[in-house]
Amino acid sequence: MRVSGVRLPGPMHTLLTERARSFRSSVIRDLLRLVDRPGVLSLAGGLPAADCFPVERIAAAADEVLAGAGPLGCEALQYGPTEGDAGLREVLASRTGAAVGCTLVTAGSQQGLDLLARVLVEPGDTVVVEQPGYVGAIQAFRAAGPRLVGVPVDADGLCTEILAAHLRDGLRPKLVYTVPNFQNPTGVTLAVHRRRQLGELSDRYGFVVIEDDPYGELRFDSPALPGIGEFGARVARLGSASKILAPGLRVGWMTAPADLVDPVVRLKQAADLHTSSLAQRIVALLLADEPFLARHLERLQLTYAERAAVLRAALVPALTSEPARGGLFLWADACGVDTAALLLIALEHGVAFVPGSAFAVDDRVRSTMRLSFASLPATELVEAGSRLSAAFAAYEGNG
Ligand code: PMP
Repeated sequence: MRVSGVRLPGPMHTLLTERARSFRSSVIRDLLRLVDRPGVLSLAGGLPAADCFPVERIAAAADEVLAGAGPLGCEALQYGPTEGDAGLREVLASRTGAAVGCTLVTAGSQQGLDLLARVLVEPGDTVVVEQPGYVGAIQAFRAAGPRLVGVPVDADGLCTEILAAHLRDGLRPKLVYTVPNFQNPTGVTLAVHRRRQLGELSDRYGFVVIEDDPYGELRFDSPALPGIGEFGARVARLGSASKILAPGLRVGWMTAPADLVDPVVRLKQAADLHTSSLAQRIVALLLADEPFLARHLERLQLTYAERAAVLRAALVPALTSEPARGGLFLWADACGVDTAALLLIALEHGVAFVPGSAFAVDDRVRSTMRLSFASLPATELVEAGSRLSAAFAAYEGNG
């Protein structure tokens, strides 16, 4: 599906590297441009709820950081170490249980994905991604020129049994990527036995697991599960302030074996020297303020749980979706309807979603869609549900 016009090659085109020329914008980014117009209720973006951003607490933390005794305030505006602000790394290490030396601050977890792809993947290497999987990761890996292999996701997350069968048949990936908690786009969580199997497979076959976990703390009613790093030694775990505080801060983090952190730090130095000193100090204060954080996370969990239930209840019966247990997304099965075609009709009815095909490395999820419940209030979610029903009716009428 093409949802935006393509710019014609300009005089720079011939100067671009092969890599830059082959780089495509993500379908979701293109879509967001299209839906970002008055009157469209968007269930398409992966944006967290802006009405829950802790604006006052962030402003107070910024004041505190900048008013910090003389040099301290200035340090927040000065260049800093590439691996991250020492105070933030300590707070992160105590939250994740990892050593400070194995903890690196990144400009969002997206930068972690890009850096890991660039230090680990040569053109032609095999990278395993979830099918359907997070588009931003697929995009970051694609830039390194690998062979991407999709392994299916079911109600228990990435099908590690299928991965094991591929490995027995000779597949030798350099990297396996998973979002273990409330996956983007399906919302499913990787079962404990599969976490164990994935960790064990990575030890046996020598690949790195990227465990990308921006949603783990947005759980509604289920207990936290052990990280994949508890079952294997080659795990790089990514975390982020984007969904628990605010994405505009652009603060994320990586914990990984020291011999993987070192080359990533060297590459990050070339990429951006370091993540914003000011943002890092603000995040350090907020994450260290346990009473604030507990209250704030509870508010997010309640808000998202309520919105998820409202949207699910507002869906037309032809769209089946499991209840969300956390995160930002419902994944709906549209019973054979081509959701890319449905989207064009839905836009005419003033509602948007992301067709499942946007999350695939091949074209096998045509009749699914991702619906974000996070950023609209309940009344608008109900209205979005009824517009979707009208779009469905119009689609069936056309067919
Ligand atoms: N990983 C996943 C699974 C995501 O859904 C996102 C953002 N939607 C990211 C990484 C990137 O997040 P950020 O760079 O803001 O931390």
